[in-house]
Amino acid sequence: MIIVMEQNATQQQMDRVTKYIEDHGMKSYIHKGDLLNVIAVIGNEITINPENIAALDGVSTVKKIQEPYKLVSRTTHPEDTVITFPNGVKIGGLEKPVLMVGPCSVEKDFDGLIKIAKAAKEMGCQFLRGGAFKPRTSPYDFQGLEEKGLEYLAAAREETGLLVVSEVMDTMDISLLCKYVDVLQVGARNMQNFKLLKALGRINKPVMIKRGGAATIKEFMLAAEYVLYNGNPNVILCERGIKGFDSQFSRNVLDIAAVPIIRKISHLPIIVDPSHATGKRYLIEPMGKAALIAGAHGLMYEIHYDPDNALCDGAQSLNLDQFRQVTKSLNKLIGRIDYDNKNNVK
Ligand code: PEP
Ligand code: MN
Repeated sequence: MIIVMEQNATQQQMDRVTKYIEDHGMKSYIHKGDLLNVIAVIGNEITINPENIAALDGVSTVKKIQEPYKLVSRTTHPEDTVITFPNGVKIGGLEKPVLMVGPCSVEKDFDGLIKIAKAAKEMGCQFLRGGAFKPRTSPYDFQGLEEKGLEYLAAAREETGLLVVSEVMDTMDISLLCKYVDVLQVGARNMQNFKLLKALGRINKPVMIKRGGAATIKEFMLAAEYVLYNGNPNVILCERGIKGFDSQFSRNVLDIAAVPIIRKISHLPIIVDPSHATGKRYLIEPMGKAALIAGAHGLMYEIHYDPDNALCDGAQSLNLDQFRQVTKSLNKLIGRIDYDNKNNVK
């Protein structure tokens, strides 16, 4: 249920409404807009009569909404969420799309990571991304450098000024990640790790949630809802492909339509990862462009100074020359991107 307050409603009237909601065993979430304040009612609405709320002073309208993901939904929060980082980089809304690049895993060759970071900086990327805790299908594969990898990322940030992103796999590691990174990534395999999502709701660093390989858009939205519900509004969504029936040519099926759908139903930023979506380096550029045209707020793709010898995901990583070429072309497109009044790319 959404309660829209009158334009001139007083704080006292708002407090009266939120108290009413809480007295009926539900939680309220207030969104203060430029013109209107909106209150979302969260919980089992059966105990509350909308007509009684509509009759409270200062209430303009009461709407029952269908979506179970109220906090993530545009109905509750009509304005886009734009996340602003301490260095001024912004993601979301009508901001220019951002680029996040880096190796699948941070490896022990620190100089190699610096080479990647410098190339990323030189090409205008805003984020360096690399895994220090790796969710690998096989226990025999490289599992990541853990804290050492995070130290390397932080040192690369020091050297280049890039923001850094890395995956968190366990609630136990959240405070460690927070010490080093600017964005905590939740991998596709953990999209429904509810304990992890709840704990990430209790921090205030941005969290990037990747769509699960077999997750519906509704499940994806509900994963983000967990983080918002637990108190952290800074969530970035990442479409990274879903499982199809044919993986001969592409690792997953990139769901491009998810981008405009999510822009329509949610206020959160949505980025696209063409590397994990396709598993092929030659598909990063065309799929990256398609994602930008569809309205992605950013792209994340894998690059490596020596992809043939990368410890993880080399086949879907660009080498640094290819990276410069592809990024030049993506930047050209980003430079031309403009939005119409319906939030679509013109
Ligand atoms: C990754 O981003 O490195 C990764 C493991 O991707 P995903 O969680 O999308 O499979
Ligand atoms: Mn990877």
